Amino acid sequence: MVLTIMIAVLFCAKTKLLFDTDRAFSYLMTSILAAILANMISVYLMALWDNQLMSERLTLWSGRIYLLCMVCVAFFALNYAKVAIVGRKKKNRTAVMANVSFLLLFFLAGFFLHIQIGKKDEILYFYGGYVRLAYGMLMLYLLLCILLVLKYRKHIERRYFISVITFTLMILITVVLVLVFSRVEFLSFAMALALLFMFLEMENPDDYVDSDSGALNEHAFRKWGQRLFQNKPGMRLLIISIPEADYIKKKLGVSDFNNLFAEIAQQTQKLHIGKVFRLDSGEFVCVVKAVEKEEALFPAVSAIIHGLSERYAGISPESVRYGMIPSLENYADMESFLQDFRFYLKHLCTLSGDVLHILDEYVLDEKNEEDFVVLSLKQAILNDEIMVYYQPIYATAKQRFTTAEALIRIKDLNGKFMSPELFIPIAERRGYILTLGHAVFEKVCRFIKEQSLEERGFSYIEINLSTVQCMQKGLASELVSIMKEYSISPGFINLEITETAAIKSEKILMKNMQRLLQLGVSFSLDDYGSGYSNLDYVVRMPFYLVKLDKLLVWDSFKKEKTRVLLETSVEMLKHMQIKIVAEGVETMEQAVYLENIGVDYLQGYYFSKPICEEEFIKIVDNNTRIKLQS
Ligand code: C2E
Ligand code: CA
Ligand code: CA
Repeated sequence: MVLTIMIAVLFCAKTKLLFDTDRAFSYLMTSILAAILANMISVYLMALWDNQLMSERLTLWSGRIYLLCMVCVAFFALNYAKVAIVGRKKKNRTAVMANVSFLLLFFLAGFFLHIQIGKKDEILYFYGGYVRLAYGMLMLYLLLCILLVLKYRKHIERRYFISVITFTLMILITVVLVLVFSRVEFLSFAMALALLFMFLEMENPDDYVDSDSGALNEHAFRKWGQRLFQNKPGMRLLIISIPEADYIKKKLGVSDFNNLFAEIAQQTQKLHIGKVFRLDSGEFVCVVKAVEKEEALFPAVSAIIHGLSERYAGISPESVRYGMIPSLENYADMESFLQDFRFYLKHLCTLSGDVLHILDEYVLDEKNEEDFVVLSLKQAILNDEIMVYYQPIYATAKQRFTTAEALIRIKDLNGKFMSPELFIPIAERRGYILTLGHAVFEKVCRFIKEQSLEERGFSYIEINLSTVQCMQKGLASELVSIMKEYSISPGFINLEITETAAIKSEKILMKNMQRLLQLGVSFSLDDYGSGYSNLDYVVRMPFYLVKLDKLLVWDSFKKEKTRVLLETSVEMLKHMQIKIVAEGVETMEQAVYLENIGVDYLQGYYFSKPICEEEFIKIVDNNTRIKLQS
């Protein structure tokens, strides 16, 4: 009894009743507590009866109740085994009723079947038909338990498998001992021991807790989700997302930041709307029963954030996004749900704060679009349908085209050109960018060789490198071997890198750059004036050329301050002896202005859109002087 109570206390202190197995364990534990208590009472009553201080009828009834409790223990052990098996259908109502009526029948059998108190070597015990029936049922349940876990051993976690098998075997063996020696107290002790063993085999709840906030963590979410999707009760997810968490962390410091998140977790838990998880990416997810109404739910959650924003600088109600996934019906399992979940989160970040957004399936349009792009990319790669277009670049000093930028072109499954701005990031995420990058570089080299571009008045071709390519250690070797294959002089190749690439992989990139620079390859810094524009990189990295972003060019015609920025940048870069390209030149006015302030090269629709190989060759052949007039 003491042992079982200790286990009960420990269990209550640690568990969060996260899993069905926890609940099944608590039933089993309660039934064992009841059995031991009934055992103690019946033994006590038997002793009184022996001294003629207790009526026989009452004593026999205490025996019956004890036997019923024993059968219940075996029943709940079987229940535990069932719950521990993943992937089995949740038992339906009729099955539950059948099981419970079976127990009831057993109880009623107590009125009709014979039970007696016997005495052997001064030890009192119960015997008779009812006792035999009880032990029969006990053994039956335990054997079923063993058969079940053996049959489904592939669907059960090792720890559950071990604990169920040991639990059942310990009790089975003890039952045999009890039947031989008629010492009932063996059984109580065996049950307590077996329960202890089972308890120790249970999972450590710390593995499931997010240390910052004290909420359940992503591991718990994933694991718990597996079971959720089996049972499919009407569940919805409430997502609380704070996109600027990094900024808040900086502002508050780590310890206050953790306090803030712990408070969000605690206060949300206190609402008792469901389990609260904190994901690795920072969002909170509450799993809410479908019946909970948003009208009551959202104001409560929002009030928590409003309260906290008064006490913690850095967090404001508007900076928090709320989203509700109204139904999980369409998902077969956690895996397929998690794939979509990423898109729900991404979409949520783009929406406004302090409002509850219902994240319907329309959100997944973006995912479907991405899947379509991936299919199109796969097909293009498979059928070697990757194309390269060339956009000629005008040199102001020579008043004609001297270079060109190579730009990738891919058609989708419907035969329409996809925008690289759409598919390049997807290719980067889904692992196709290295294949694309390789194909583009090879196609450009083959084109240069086939058309003898080096001998036709062009200085070099600019080729874009993706951030992911820049992070590859073998990048330089790969490019060198392609250039060798087509005998291209490295001086005819200029590689365009964005600042993001430089930031993300400075060390590896520098190594690649150095090797290629030695051979004569030159480098451009692409998209100058967009994003961060950390001038540091212009200074630190050996760029031959800087390409002014088209937005900078366009804005400088709209805003005086941008014009100042552009002109100062040009002046600065000229002092550094770095060549300058302006992108997005669409009008003569722009072209003339940029030439006047000293930009070396002009690229844009005013001169030519990116064009296919044949058309580009025509331009190369008729590369006459173009005078810019105003
Ligand atoms: P980017 O490197 O900034 O390339 C210039 C983009 O501006 C091209 O878009 C070009 O068509 C467009 N452009 C040029 N002049 C004008 C103009 O006057 N007006 C307007 N509105 N647009 C102009 P595109 O070809 O759609 O490429 C978009 C981006 O995709 C590129 O931006 C580059 O970041 C990426 N990209 C293209 N090809 C490749 C490639 O082979 N590899 C990698 N990694 N990225 C590529
Ligand atoms: Ca570029
Ligand atoms: Ca650019």
